[in-house]
Order: sequence, then C-alpha cells, then structure tokens
Amino acid sequence: MTAVSNAGDAGPKVEEKLFQNRYLVDAGRPHIKVIPGAEPSAALRSLVTTCPAGCYSTNDRGQVEIVADGCMECGTCRVVTAKTGEIEWQYPRGGYGILYKFG
Ligand code: SF4
Repeated sequence: MTAVSNAGDAGPKVEEKLFQNRYLVDAGRPHIKVIPGAEPSAALRSLVTTCPAGCYSTNDRGQVEIVADGCMECGTCRVVTAKTGEIEWQYPRGGYGILYKFG
C-alpha cells in the first residue's frame, strides 16, 4: 500500500489511519440501540454529524437510527445522550467490534 500524505508532509490523514482498523460485526446483537421515542432530542440529532464513524442517520420519518457496524467505541454518543437516556450503550461482546491497528 502506498502511503498518501497531507500537503506539507504532516503524515497520513485521519481517514487513512481509520482505514487500517478492522471490525467484526456481532450479527443480530448491536451493542448500541436508540430507544424509540416521539421526537429525537437535539442531543440525539447531533449524533448524525458528530459520530466519527457515521453510525447515526435520520430516516424519512425524522427519527434517528443507528447502524453500529464500524462503531469505534469512542463513547461520544453515550456522553451526549447521558441526560436524555435515548440510547442503550454497552461494549460489544468479547471478540467483536473494533480492532485497532496502530502504526
Ligand atoms: S461510540 Fe462513538 S463511534 Fe460508536 S456510535 Fe457512538 S459516537 Fe459513534
């Protein structure tokens, strides 16, 4: 693989580093769930743009959905919705989830 650098030779881009990670999906057992509600709070809606893995999206009914495949387990969504209680969050089972590759 050829390394691509930022202008100014600052090293690999964040996207290039993230591409090195691997993810093992625990099929049928998502580790994060959005609790169904009448209307998503601003906090929950913000995850559509703040989740670094792009796991959250808004459907055509205005509800926020998550596909946790690719989740980096950063905990941002857990913190952001701590007061609203709109998601259930737990780590994936052992052997599943993100596998970070450093270097
Ligand atoms: S833990 Fe982080 S990467 Fe995973 S869904 Fe939440 S915000 Fe996205």
